[in-house]
Amino acid sequence: MQRANHYLKTVYGYSEFRLHQAEIIQTLLAGGDAMTLMPTGGGKSICYQIPSMILDGVGIIISPLIALMQDQVTQLKQLGVKAAFINSTLSFNEVQKIQADLVNANLDLLYLAPERLLTSSMLALLAQSKIALFAIDEAHCVSQWGHDFRKEYQQLSILHQRFPTVPRIALTATADQRTQNEIVQQLGLGKARVFVNSFNRPNITYSINDGQQLREQLWKFIKKNHPHDAGIIYCLSRKKVESTAEWFSKKGRVALPYHAGLSDKMRQQHQQRFLCEDGIIIVATIAFGMGIDKPNVRFVGHLNLPKSIEAYYQETGRAGRDGEPANAWLGYGLQDVITLNQMIHVNDGNDTYKRIAHQKLEAMIGLCELNTCRRQTLLAYFGEPINEPCGNCDNCNDPPQTWDATTAAQKALSCVYRTGQRFGTNYVIDVLLGKEDKRILQNRHNQLSTYGIGKDLSNIEWRTIFRQLIIQGYLYADADSYNVITLTKLARPVLRGETTIILRSVRRAGKGNAKNKSTDNKYPLNTRDESLLETLKDLRLKLSKKQSVPAYHVFHDATLIQMATIQPTTLVEMGSIHGIGEKKLKRYGQLFIDAIQQTLA
Ligand code: ADP
Ligand code: ZN
Repeated sequence: MQRANHYLKTVYGYSEFRLHQAEIIQTLLAGGDAMTLMPTGGGKSICYQIPSMILDGVGIIISPLIALMQDQVTQLKQLGVKAAFINSTLSFNEVQKIQADLVNANLDLLYLAPERLLTSSMLALLAQSKIALFAIDEAHCVSQWGHDFRKEYQQLSILHQRFPTVPRIALTATADQRTQNEIVQQLGLGKARVFVNSFNRPNITYSINDGQQLREQLWKFIKKNHPHDAGIIYCLSRKKVESTAEWFSKKGRVALPYHAGLSDKMRQQHQQRFLCEDGIIIVATIAFGMGIDKPNVRFVGHLNLPKSIEAYYQETGRAGRDGEPANAWLGYGLQDVITLNQMIHVNDGNDTYKRIAHQKLEAMIGLCELNTCRRQTLLAYFGEPINEPCGNCDNCNDPPQTWDATTAAQKALSCVYRTGQRFGTNYVIDVLLGKEDKRILQNRHNQLSTYGIGKDLSNIEWRTIFRQLIIQGYLYADADSYNVITLTKLARPVLRGETTIILRSVRRAGKGNAKNKSTDNKYPLNTRDESLLETLKDLRLKLSKKQSVPAYHVFHDATLIQMATIQPTTLVEMGSIHGIGEKKLKRYGQLFIDAIQQTLA
């Protein structure tokens, strides 16, 4: 463990281990297996990187995405660690060289995709090599109920069969109890020590919004809270990704689309710009994000409902990895609920799959419709209840208004019933409002007792009511037949007056955001420091461009902020700053000292 502490300081420039890191490292060094659940940004990588450096042989890291491997390997090289990956982007000769390094144990870490690892030639090569450990990153990919399912992950139990004495660690940031059990079972980790860190991300402010013109609402939010910040906006379809990116570009932001329909080259290019430049917005389908560890993503927006709480939590978790305040903003509409239900329905999975998918969607809708603390519900979902409301979500900061909508609901439901359960929401609302519409007159629905009984409310208010009645399950909207709405069995007690219905009023926009960054900064800056910080950032950009790596590979924001505050003049002082290990001190220390002295001279 002494060596582990030494590496933490000299390689990474950090002074102490975070929760569970030391115990996990100890477990692996002693030859045991570990299973690690840590939220995004919790510090998973160090848990296998340090033991790979200490133990004899090469640490084999199984990682599902090429982008993730490349990013990690370039970061490790910056730290002076011997790391490599093998994937399809390499030439034959490059692969040969790395394979030789593997067999000669001339590497600390080797990153592989599961399909590469499982080839018989790679397994044969591993059998000839000394292996320090196996790390299975993003281990939730074994779960076939999950959204990142990768079938090769299910074959990884072969590692234990072929290499029974090599310690293994499985890591993930998303796992409810079911997924957790699946990981243990599928990977044969029955004897592993399990480490679960809090899933709470206290620096993320959650807000969930409904109603009309969501894109406009999101734009107002971004303009107010993140005029220059980098962020990700998720949409369900490629088409919507394209149109949204275009729309935000017209508003004057750099907004780049990312989805599976774009060429590899274009996707690569957009991702690279997002990582390397400041203030870029990526508009993406869920194809974007796994393995993106850009630390200063300040907001994640959703313009469609995610299909489960796991997906929502994973996607929003990409905001604020650096621990600074960040926003997760979700906007959803009724159409989302109908579309997602439809997608589950037409999926050719078996009944169990459909049942679970429905349950997950229901839980997500429940989170949206909630009147109490969002974080309490989120954490309870992941088996980690907290006693107090969080004080950092929309419902805590700006409690929603609710009202007793029993009478209105009775009017709505009975109007659906009297018009024969054959029409969509618009038609039924027109009847409630007593519109003299041609279809209504033809159907003689102007003679119904419910014709015109809803004039006390506006069209928009009725839409909100119908949406909530559908979402809460009193009405069913059938996507297969033009969204015709019918009563469910929950409707009867309402019509008989046995149920009270409480609904949310329309939310006032614009409240409940992350606290203003400048008032919440751990290192307050005076004006002189601000300009120094700018100088340091410019230098960082220059250095990162020269090496074609993202700026945060050189130094994180937090490191520069500390530098601008402490203003070190010697290499020793510089070395005491958070995030500066020996290699980076040697490579960049003097350059930054010079820049500080010039600016302050
Ligand atoms: P994860 O993979 O869990 O999302 P990472 O391993 O990428 O998280 O770590 C997130 C950030 O926290 C990285 O910038 C990493 O260097 C930093 N970090 C990890 N461990 C420590 C530590 N003990 N002290 C300070 N920073 C740390
Ligand atoms: Zn809260």
